[in-house]
Amino acid sequence: MSDASQKEKLRQHFARRVTTQARVVLDTWQKIHTNKGSFTAHREELRSATDKLVRYAQRFEMAGHVKTGKTILGIIRVWPADTPLDDTTERKLQDAIDALARSTLRRTDQSCTEAPHQFRRTPVYIALASADMANRLIRQLEFFGFRASAFDSAGELTEACALHKPETILMDVNFGGSPNAGIATIENLQARHDTPIPIIFMSDEDGTIQTRLRASRCGGEEFFYPAVDPGQLIEKIETYTHSNSVEPYRVLVLDDSRAQAKFMETVLKRAGMTAHIITDPMEIIDALDMFSPEIIILDMYMPGCTGMEIARVIRQQDRLHSVPIIYLSAEDDVTKQLHAMSLGGDDFLTKPIDPKHLIATLHNRGRRARSLLALMIRDSLTGLYNHTHTLHLLDQEIGRARQKNQPLCFAMIDIDYFKRVNDTFGHPIGDRVLRSLSMFLKQRLRKTDHIGRYGGEEFAIILPNTRPGDARDVLNEIRERFSELQQPAGDREFNVTFSCGIAAWNNGSSQNLCERADRALYTSKEHNRNCVTLADN
Ligand code: GH3
Ligand code: MG
Ligand code: MG
Repeated sequence: MSDASQKEKLRQHFARRVTTQARVVLDTWQKIHTNKGSFTAHREELRSATDKLVRYAQRFEMAGHVKTGKTILGIIRVWPADTPLDDTTERKLQDAIDALARSTLRRTDQSCTEAPHQFRRTPVYIALASADMANRLIRQLEFFGFRASAFDSAGELTEACALHKPETILMDVNFGGSPNAGIATIENLQARHDTPIPIIFMSDEDGTIQTRLRASRCGGEEFFYPAVDPGQLIEKIETYTHSNSVEPYRVLVLDDSRAQAKFMETVLKRAGMTAHIITDPMEIIDALDMFSPEIIILDMYMPGCTGMEIARVIRQQDRLHSVPIIYLSAEDDVTKQLHAMSLGGDDFLTKPIDPKHLIATLHNRGRRARSLLALMIRDSLTGLYNHTHTLHLLDQEIGRARQKNQPLCFAMIDIDYFKRVNDTFGHPIGDRVLRSLSMFLKQRLRKTDHIGRYGGEEFAIILPNTRPGDARDVLNEIRERFSELQQPAGDREFNVTFSCGIAAWNNGSSQNLCERADRALYTSKEHNRNCVTLADN
């Protein structure tokens, strides 16, 4: 490793330490905020946590943190030790804390392409009548890498939204005390934003159709009535935040007219899609291999062959069986269109093409194609890759690692004493644990890692371009954090642990890699479980 990259690595390492300490400060502030009765103890806790932050930040030359840390210390200094927080001091502290939160999160964002990410960019806001429930949710959400804040009043919530638009809001229908006051707040809020914020409404009291309609009209995506289980809620929040990060559709266009092809490219790119354009039908095979499109657009009439003939050739390949094909032509004879569709097409667009119409068609086809594909390669309970596809990806990644001469690790995870969970709390709660582990892994691993459900309560993770020591550290951290996660079961809570085995690729086959990871997992089970073992090479 060069000097410069060594230095950069060290810098990142220390930056993480400062960030972690900043999180301690933020958590302590949260405690003060939610439990105003115990101010004396928490005042000291906040002071010493901030003091430590400033010292770390000074040592690692992170000027922003030094400055905000000192501001916080200054405010605490004039806050007398034996008195509760007054409004002015509280506001000042909140401002300083917000500044700290911003710089802390920005830092994790920057490094999130490299390091397994810690926190999502956008917050989740919670406006519930029960502060207890809100705090419990915040704690749970934090485990899944979400940053959540609770609010006591509609005014505070509105202000926070103006400052930082949230990913989603969890809103009590009657928040604020009077019937439907929560919905009214949301109606006002949505009017201030161009794109609506997805809202999850809940109510203990009111599940009438009138209320549900009003909630749905102002952006209510979900309506929980009467009771809501934190596990269920977190799963919902996860789906909303996930849909925001969908990959753009990959669209292949074959049109012999360069002008028409260029026009399509512009329209597709403007709609946020990834377009690959070819004008020579003879290039189609290479384009399919290189680009692996999710949607194909074919011109009907080209010199040398027709779009229908190309469609037939495409459909002869098994793996392209479900890729939607859309024909493009000036043809408006319905009989001819129908004939073209019978030869493997899915849609027919007539020129001149209305860009809006084109994009809408692509979205519909793309969405459907993805959900069909998901049925084939994903496990329905967790949404992770299934066994077969995980192994397929492993082979692919081994090929890539060999080509690029990069390291690769493969990890297997098995939940400890899972049978007991089912026996004690029932199968549905067992299923929820499986989902919570899968969400946990998705949140904490990098986008480039592949996570699969290998079998019942076994998971497999492919970590491309990762050294064995790093893989062990990451999984060990995940193991530790997961074991702290409170799993809700009605009004009880319990903890679950897992064992893990990791093998580093040593130029062998995927089968060899799996076997070594499996043996390492077995070793973890033998060593009292709840640990990570790295296989010998
Ligand atoms: P160990 O620590 O040795 O791994 O013990 P264990 O109890 O986890 O292992 P064992 O293999 O004996 O039991 C696995 C259990 O996982 C048995 C099975 O009922 C349960 N299981 C497998 N798939 C599912 C599922 O989809 N949902 C639920 N709820 N349980 C499942
Ligand atoms: Mg097992
Ligand atoms: Mg097990």
